[in-house]
Amino acid sequence: MSKTIQSIKGMNDALPIANKAAPIPTPVWLHFEAVVRDWLAAYGYEQMRTPVLEYTALFVRGVGEHTDIVEKEMYSFEDSLNGDQLVLRPEGTAGCVRACIEHGLLYNQTQRLWYTGPMFRHERPQKGRYRQFHQVGVEAFGFAGAEVDAELIAMLADLWQRLGLTGLQLELNSLGDVAERAAHRAELIAYLEKHVDILDEDGKRRLYTNPLRVLDTKNPALQEMAENAPRLADFLGEESRAHFARVRQLLDDAGIAYTLNDRLVRGLDYYNRTVFEWTTSELGAQATVAAGGRYDGLVEQLGGKPCPGVGFGIGIERLLLLLEVQGINPPASNPDVYLINDGDAAGRAAFGVARALRAAGLKVVLHAGGGSFKSQFKKADASGARYAVVIGESEAEAGTANLKRLTGDGGGEQITLPQAGLAAQILAAA
Ligand code: ATP
Ligand code: MG
Repeated sequence: MSKTIQSIKGMNDALPIANKAAPIPTPVWLHFEAVVRDWLAAYGYEQMRTPVLEYTALFVRGVGEHTDIVEKEMYSFEDSLNGDQLVLRPEGTAGCVRACIEHGLLYNQTQRLWYTGPMFRHERPQKGRYRQFHQVGVEAFGFAGAEVDAELIAMLADLWQRLGLTGLQLELNSLGDVAERAAHRAELIAYLEKHVDILDEDGKRRLYTNPLRVLDTKNPALQEMAENAPRLADFLGEESRAHFARVRQLLDDAGIAYTLNDRLVRGLDYYNRTVFEWTTSELGAQATVAAGGRYDGLVEQLGGKPCPGVGFGIGIERLLLLLEVQGINPPASNPDVYLINDGDAAGRAAFGVARALRAAGLKVVLHAGGGSFKSQFKKADASGARYAVVIGESEAEAGTANLKRLTGDGGGEQITLPQAGLAAQILAAA
């Protein structure tokens, strides 16, 4: 036998039942996706679908040249057909904005949009951090006011509730506008230059390219230096302050608690004003389950007419791991009927009965592959079906079937019915 081929490191399969190498089973994904669709519809968001492959330039311009994502995390390659520089998308906002501009969706109109799908980043795989992971992204375009910032944040609080999750925490900050950031940046660079001898490699490299990110460090040796750095909050002008105050007021009114974290800058370059993260203490280092903020300059940066934007991304795997940690299971979706049959004529009758039951709206597993009634009943039990329907050769000849309740009240009772009466009987007892 030749050697088997394995999946790529950091890129997971999802199976009907979890195992160690595929920790999140598909029923959990399906449950999450169903909740998410209802949730987004409740707020008037409409779906976008964009390709997984985009031109590299989109992310260099749209995410920022000096970000972790563009500097070291992108799966980039040259198209061997024509030499184009392509990447597997590392995030969804840039592609969504690209599509909106390309199709004229932002011309004198507002949009509330969402998407979901795989994202790709070349990171060190660990629990809650993968090379292929999935996001739900939500983006609102054309809204300059603070109420959409607050609504997006509150939407997430609502999603946690719909999923049954508890204990998630909200961190909030304002990054001000371009001019305010520039003024702060100049003072910050001057401050960092005074401490250049203690900066680590990343810090030195980013001092002039992305000084805010120097403060967003996990290096304990830099904590005190970062703590005493000039604060962006002190550079915010009247409008930025008013915008942020309004966001906080609406959250207060909604009873949504938050902590202000003036070190929250987010990894991506494009944010302004409101930024936020929802975090959990139950997943170790991979604490952030959703993150987002306002990005009023991005549309223009990608070649569109100026148009305000605000949005967030949810890390689906992290949320699904959290569901598991909190003991929240998806609702069971067992079949209604397991259809047991034995013999040539019985198999033929069962094939037709299964089709009729499904047409009546029931979920039916038709036993295939033969075997004794006893072994088929075992499979019926294991399937979790509410009923077994049994058709042997004599039932096939008589046009009847035996209906046996497998679960709940009346488990074990068995009655004989005409095949044509099965659906009504099962639906009436449901
Ligand atoms: P982190 O600081 O954990 O690397 P990030 O700031 O790079 O996160 P974003 O680009 O804001 O993450 O993406 C939004 C969300 O997507 C994150 O909050 C997280 O839940 C999830 N996410 C990001 N990278 C990964 C990954 N490699 N594997 C799984 N989920 C991820
Ligand atoms: Mg990251």
